Amino acid sequence: ERTRDHGSLRGFVRDIADFPEDGVTYRDITPLLGDSSAFAQAVTGLVDEFSGVAVDRVVGVESRGFIFGAAVAYRIGAGFVPVRKPGKLPWAVVREEYQLEYGADKLEIHRDAIHPGERILIVDDVLATGGTARATAKLVETLGGVIAGLGFVIELDDLGGRAQLGERPVKSLLHYS
Ligand code: AMP
Repeated sequence: ERTRDHGSLRGFVRDIADFPEDGVTYRDITPLLGDSSAFAQAVTGLVDEFSGVAVDRVVGVESRGFIFGAAVAYRIGAGFVPVRKPGKLPWAVVREEYQLEYGADKLEIHRDAIHPGERILIVDDVLATGGTARATAKLVETLGGVIAGLGFVIELDDLGGRAQLGERPVKSLLHYS
């Protein structure tokens, strides 16, 4: 397996103490998005982590997953499918409830967005408790999709998100403890 050092991206992640509530260190990726080479390195990094893996569509989770997911989809020549908060998608949906690091929420996907047997790459900015990613994987699997992998820019190792995802292949560019 190829190992790549994405450590230089760390300088483009801003740590914000006690946001959105006390005790949470928020990893702000807006400096990374705003820097042309850091953004390109992150997108290329995600693409490279799944090189050789067949992917029909990329699923991005609202809202920062849209940014990275759409860029990855474009780069690998795959379609993009949004997973959104309730009430945002206009067509018939499947809904899944999940727990956040801070709070609880629901996610939806269009029923016709994924067809049985399609290979799906899920992309998001941060893997924290894994609730969001697991709910997204369940939505994909409810529609008959196969999880080709889950790619994250940042993984918060101590929150155990990876364990929530079972045997599904997980890759993250940066790890924080
Ligand atoms: P989780 O469901 O706990 O894995 O949370 C994942 C989602 O919440 C991701 O879409 C992140 O954007 C956001 N998130 C959770 N914790 C953080 C954090 N410490 N810093 C930045 N984003 C976070």
